[in-house]
Amino acid sequence: MSGGLLLVGAHVGDMDFTAGHLALLHAKAGEDVTFLHLTAGEGGHPRRDRATYKAQKLSEAEEAAGRFGARLRILDYADGDLVASDQVARSVASVIDGERPAVVVTHWRGSFHRDHANCYFAVERALALQRENGGAQNGSPQLFYAENWEDADGFRADEVVDISSVFDEWLAGARCHELFRGGVVNFDYQGYYEALTTLRGKMSGVRRGAAFMRPPSVFFAPVPKLGGGGS
Ligand SMILES: [Zn+2]
Repeated sequence: MSGGLLLVGAHVGDMDFTAGHLALLHAKAGEDVTFLHLTAGEGGHPRRDRATYKAQKLSEAEEAAGRFGARLRILDYADGDLVASDQVARSVASVIDGERPAVVVTHWRGSFHRDHANCYFAVERALALQRENGGAQNGSPQLFYAENWEDADGFRADEVVDISSVFDEWLAGARCHELFRGGVVNFDYQGYYEALTTLRGKMSGVRRGAAFMRPPSVFFAPVPKLGGGGS
């Protein structure tokens, strides 16, 4: 496959809330779309035990992926304990190798949630491994970061996508998740992410929009010699 979209999130739900609309647009254009959740997000319920909530999260993920027209992969790392190890990076790299996506969307590293930052680093490492192993003959996938309220430190809205045509379907998909509908934690996920699509839409003159960030550019300036370097 090529020309597809791969969405890599730390927890079930992250990519659904922040990029489910993008998934719908790509799926409707006839592309392969895959959600890859690194953990189930089973630790996030204040009243339900992890095993019970995990089963719920897995079934919510499946229902949402179906609504988004996407395939679903969920790795079995523990929520709250995700590290950017080579093992996690290799797991992500093997999915990238199998799917050969043209575009990868993941978390921005400027997050107060350690799992989210480590997901960012795992994807970076996976893409580096792919390049090192010569697995990127057709070029590395284009990388974008989704806009997540937990990953807002330094986030830039580089691209705003018009998601007006899929807004209702995105909302229905995101609402498969109890966390999004409300009642799990105090944060109003649905209210926030709905309002965000209005805000981003206003920025680019469309009814509903979604923002994505490109990887920061790296400029190589001449490095001054430490210690002066004089004779
Ligand atoms: Zn998360």
